[in-house]
Amino acid sequence: MISDSIQIALLHISLNIASFIFDLVLCFLLLTLKHENKSMNRRFLTLSVFVLFGIVFTCLDSIFRRDHLFDVPQIIPVITNHVAYGSNIFLTFFFARYSESFFNVDFKSKLSRFNSILMGFSVVFLAMGVIFKLPKLDGTPEIVNMANWYRFVTGFAIELYYLGYSAALFVKNGKQLDKRAFRTALSSFVITMGIITIEGFNNTGIYLNYLGAVLGIYVFYVGNESSDYKYLIKAMQDLEESKKKADSANRSKSDFLASMSHEIRTPLNAVIGMNEMILRESENPTVISYARNVESAGNNLLSIINDILDFSKIEAGKLELVEAPYKLSSVINDVINIISIKASSKEIRFESDVDENLPDGLFGDEVRIRQVIVNILSNAVKYTNKGFVKFSITGKKTPDNVCLIVKVTDSGIGIKEEDLPKIFGKFERVDLGQNKTVEGTGLGLAITHSLLEMMNGNIEVESVYGSGSTFTIMIPQKITLDEPIGDYRKKFEMNAKENNVYKETFTAPDAYILVVDDMPMNLTVITRLLAKTKIKIDTAKSGEEALKLTQEIPYDLILMDQMMPQMDGSQVLHRIRKQVDGANIETPMICLTADAISGAKERYLTEGFTDYISKPVKGYALEEVLSEYLPKEKVIHQ
Ligand code: ADP
Repeated sequence: MISDSIQIALLHISLNIASFIFDLVLCFLLLTLKHENKSMNRRFLTLSVFVLFGIVFTCLDSIFRRDHLFDVPQIIPVITNHVAYGSNIFLTFFFARYSESFFNVDFKSKLSRFNSILMGFSVVFLAMGVIFKLPKLDGTPEIVNMANWYRFVTGFAIELYYLGYSAALFVKNGKQLDKRAFRTALSSFVITMGIITIEGFNNTGIYLNYLGAVLGIYVFYVGNESSDYKYLIKAMQDLEESKKKADSANRSKSDFLASMSHEIRTPLNAVIGMNEMILRESENPTVISYARNVESAGNNLLSIINDILDFSKIEAGKLELVEAPYKLSSVINDVINIISIKASSKEIRFESDVDENLPDGLFGDEVRIRQVIVNILSNAVKYTNKGFVKFSITGKKTPDNVCLIVKVTDSGIGIKEEDLPKIFGKFERVDLGQNKTVEGTGLGLAITHSLLEMMNGNIEVESVYGSGSTFTIMIPQKITLDEPIGDYRKKFEMNAKENNVYKETFTAPDAYILVVDDMPMNLTVITRLLAKTKIKIDTAKSGEEALKLTQEIPYDLILMDQMMPQMDGSQVLHRIRKQVDGANIETPMICLTADAISGAKERYLTEGFTDYISKPVKGYALEEVLSEYLPKEKVIHQ
């Protein structure tokens, strides 16, 4: 039969052995899995090694003093007991130190210094305890002469103070930690302090504090110090850092694009506008043919700039569809207009087939749909040297929706089977041997694909290398007016005749407008473009000049350039609206700007502009906007 006291002694020893093994494993892990922050790793390892010592002394204390398993001279239990207490104090002191380094707290702070002094004092105190075998105050007999107050101070209060200090550091600096680190640090405190408190206040006589300490630091290790966790945190910090860098680079790219687009569009405005004047006014066929070339090159340049801008908007996730009711016939009209001109310049037969039953009134982003179809058709013309380009549009209808099916077939150079998956990639141009002379950026199909994705549409391609390709696009649209589009060809032919020669769409001799732009060339372009409408036009070269005029003269409409030195368009707009007794408090104001980056239109409208025309200003766009906002009674349609 084993006596009760021996059983308790064995329980103490086995608990301590379990804690020891547990801690040994942790030390082993710390030694093998070194992480980046070597000094922290070393401190944590030292902490764990001190725990090992603490366990050994506690075990000896248990063997010689508490459970007196062996008969030894009394000085031995006195020493082991005091050393065990000392190692407890040192351990908690070191934990406080470790917590300070964890949060980069200055070791020279007053509290930190006090902690060191307290540690020194504890050592002296314990040494004196051994030397003088302090008498007990309550008179209870004990094998080691140790008063309860002394036991309370050295075996409990000082340790609790250090642990409390560390806990306060964690509470104060816990915000620096992420959720997981904070939670595990908190749990490790609760475990360690909880177990030590139970042991301090409960007289079961069973030693639990090292089990608590080991469990606590183990939880802490898993949550904060394990090397893979450190790696994860480091990787996440690096990722965050790279994301910040990438975002800022992306912002600079957008800013750069916005300003470049402005810089390029402004002179292009003058080139295209002046060229339009030459086309209108010249009767010399050679000059006209030169001017046509300038027109085509100018438009080409513009479409490249637009493609790059669109693409960067898509990349930045800033491109948004602007959905509104529109007429399908108008889109088809524009598309066929643009493409038949391109096709005729290459002597390619352009055939179109429009399903007469398609509903005309649809809801969607008209501009983007036009862009997608024009892209595919332009490619067909670009990559076909002889033969034909066929355009057909049909649809699958349900009562409220129609899925437009656009098919573009060409007899061009075709695409190799292995190149087919590549053509929708960005900056991807294939078969460069054949296409060396064909201009392109490799962005058209990437943009088309992204736009169709945004519209829940789809694009498919079939091609036979050397004989031609067929692109099929599907775009679901809502129907707003189920009126069949009818015989499209007739309408188109009539339009085509009218479109051959410029003819003003309206005249408004009684209308009076103001144009504000700091570049004299742009003022000339707009005045000349509007010459045939007979509108009376004042011009102002600066905001100041505009403000003087608007104070006195009531205009029917104001065209305002946005980017001007000193006062920009928006500032002038606000000042005009606030002019005391001003003559133009409510006059429609149209913003003219070369800023075509995403959100520009919305921004100008929220500033208070009535509408927006993007530069380079085209004659027809100008007339369209003016006929909409000029007083109806002053506009005489032709
Ligand atoms: P690009 O500006 O080069 O035309 P796209 O993105 O529009 O760029 O097209 C990508 C590539 O796909 C083109 O470079 C061309 O090789 C090929 N491609 C597109 N459409 C056709 C077509 N109709 N026939 C032959 N090849 C085509």
